[in-house]
Amino acid sequence: MSNNEDLFKKVISHSKEYGFIFPSSEIYDGLSAVYDYGQLGVELKNNIKQYWWKAMVQMHENIVGIDSAIFMHPSVWKASGHVDAFNDPLIDNKDSKKRYRADVLIEDYIQKIEDKIQKEIDKAAKRFENFDATLFRQTNGRVLEYQARIDEISKCFVDAMTTNDLAAIKKLIDDLAIVCPVSGSRNWTEVRQFNLMFATQMGSTTETADVVYLRPETAQGIFLNFLNVQKTGRMKIPFGIAQIGKAFRNEIVARQFIFRMKEFEQMEMQFFVRPGEELKWFEHWKQERIKWHHALDISENKYRFHDHEKLAHYANAATDIEFEFPFGFKELEGIHSRTDFDLNAHQQLSGKKIQYFDPELNESYVPYVVETSIGLDRMFLAIICNAYQEEQLEDGSVRTVMNIPPFLAPYKVAVLPLVKKDGMPEMAHDILKNLQENFNCQYDEKDAIGRRYRRQDAIGTPFCITVDNQTMEDNTVTIRNRDTMLQNRIAINDIHTTLNKLLQ
Ligand code: ATP
Repeated sequence: MSNNEDLFKKVISHSKEYGFIFPSSEIYDGLSAVYDYGQLGVELKNNIKQYWWKAMVQMHENIVGIDSAIFMHPSVWKASGHVDAFNDPLIDNKDSKKRYRADVLIEDYIQKIEDKIQKEIDKAAKRFENFDATLFRQTNGRVLEYQARIDEISKCFVDAMTTNDLAAIKKLIDDLAIVCPVSGSRNWTEVRQFNLMFATQMGSTTETADVVYLRPETAQGIFLNFLNVQKTGRMKIPFGIAQIGKAFRNEIVARQFIFRMKEFEQMEMQFFVRPGEELKWFEHWKQERIKWHHALDISENKYRFHDHEKLAHYANAATDIEFEFPFGFKELEGIHSRTDFDLNAHQQLSGKKIQYFDPELNESYVPYVVETSIGLDRMFLAIICNAYQEEQLEDGSVRTVMNIPPFLAPYKVAVLPLVKKDGMPEMAHDILKNLQENFNCQYDEKDAIGRRYRRQDAIGTPFCITVDNQTMEDNTVTIRNRDTMLQNRIAINDIHTTLNKLLQ
C-alpha cells in the first residue's frame, strides 16, 4: 500500500471515529456515495461556508447572496442543456457485471503512466544532489517515451470526448487493452450515454405528475433570479450573486469518499459583466479565488491551475483549481467564463426578456457571466487530508493531530479541570459559560489531562484552557497550544482577548 493510500484510509477512519463523517444509512449497509456529517463535521462545514460567504459576499459591496429552491421548472434544465447534454459515457463489463465511466477508465490508464514518470523522478531525486525535476522531465529518455505515450492517448481521448464519439472511446479502451479491475477481463459492452440528473415527479397522481429534477448545480437558481435581484437590489453591472446549496448528480463511479458524491453542496458565485469584459473578470476571479485558498495556510504547492483546452458548450474560458489529494491532483473548484449562454437560453425558452439597461452605455444587453464554483465537500476533504498528521514524540509515543486552520476548527477551545474535585469543575464551568457566547467550546473532565489533550489534538481544537490548583489561588489558568503543545499561564480575565488575538 502506498503512503498516500494509507493516509487516505486513515483520514476516512479517523473521520468516522471522531464524528466528522459517517456513511449514510449505515445500519442498512450504507448507500453508495452518500454520507452524513456528524457532530464535528457539521461544525467544520459551517465554518468553511462562513469563510466563503464572508470572503465572497460580506467583503464585496457588489455581491449579494440568495437561497433558491432545489426544485425548478423542468424547462430550466432544457434551456441549460442538462437534459440533452449532462451525460457520462458508461461501459459495463460482461463478466463482473460492474459498470464504469468509460472516460474514467482511460484517465486511470493515463494516470498509471504518470505514476511511472513520478517513480523515475523520485528515483533520480534520491540519486542526484541539486536535482532539477523539470530538467529531468525534459531530458530523460524513458520519461520522454512515457510522455509521448500520454500525449498520443490524450489526443485521441480529447477528440473522442469533444465529438461525443462513443465508438471511438470504446475503440480506445480496446486498443489500450484496459481490463475490468474486478474480473480482469476485456469483455466490454458498447459505451452509452447516461444522464446524471435525478428525476422525480411533482403532482398529486402519476397521471397528472410532471417530471422535475433535483438540481445538478446551484447556478441555474441564480440565473433565474438575475432580474429579481438586479431590480430589487438596484444592482449595477458588474455585480455578483452568490449561493450555497445542495446539488445532486447520479454519479455512477462513486469513489474516493466525499470527493464524488450523489448529494453534495456547492458554493457558487455568478458575476455579471459587460459583454467583452468577461475575460478580464475571468482573470480577476482566478486570482481572487487562489488567494482565498492560500489564506488557509495550506502549502501553495498543493494547489495548481488546470486550464481547460476542451471547453464546455457554454464557456469561452475555463480553469480548475486543482488540489493535491492523497489520490493525486484533482479538481476542487471551477472558474468558468460562461458567456451569455444561460441567460440567453432562458430568455429564448421562456419568451421573457432578461436584459440589463446599462445607464453608462445607454443600451440594453444580456450580461456575460463569470462563475466561481467550489464543492463544499471537496473543500472539507482537502482540509482534513491536509490536516491529518501523526507525529512521533520524543518519548516514543505517536500523537495524532488535526492541524485544521484554527479559525475553521470545530471547537476553538476546550475547558478542562485538572481534577474532578476541589472546586475545579465548578470554576471550569464558570469559565466555559463566559466563553460560550463567543467561541464554540468543549468541556471535558474524564480521564487524565494528557489523554484529554490528545483527544482535543485529534479533533483539531487549537487551544485548551486548564483549571488547576493555582487557578483556585490566583485566578490564572494555563492555555495550551495544539501545534506547539506549549502552555502559558494567563489571567482568567484575559482569556477572551488572548483567544481573539490567537484566532484572528
Ligand atoms: P468532476 O469533473 O470532478 O466531475 P465537474 O467539472 O463536473 O467535476 P462542476 O460541474 O464544475 O464539476 O462543479 C463545480 C464543483 O462542484 C466542482 O469543482 C466540485 O468541487 C464540486 N462537485 C462536482 N461534482 C461533485 C460531486 N459529485 N461530489 C462532490 N463535489 C462535486
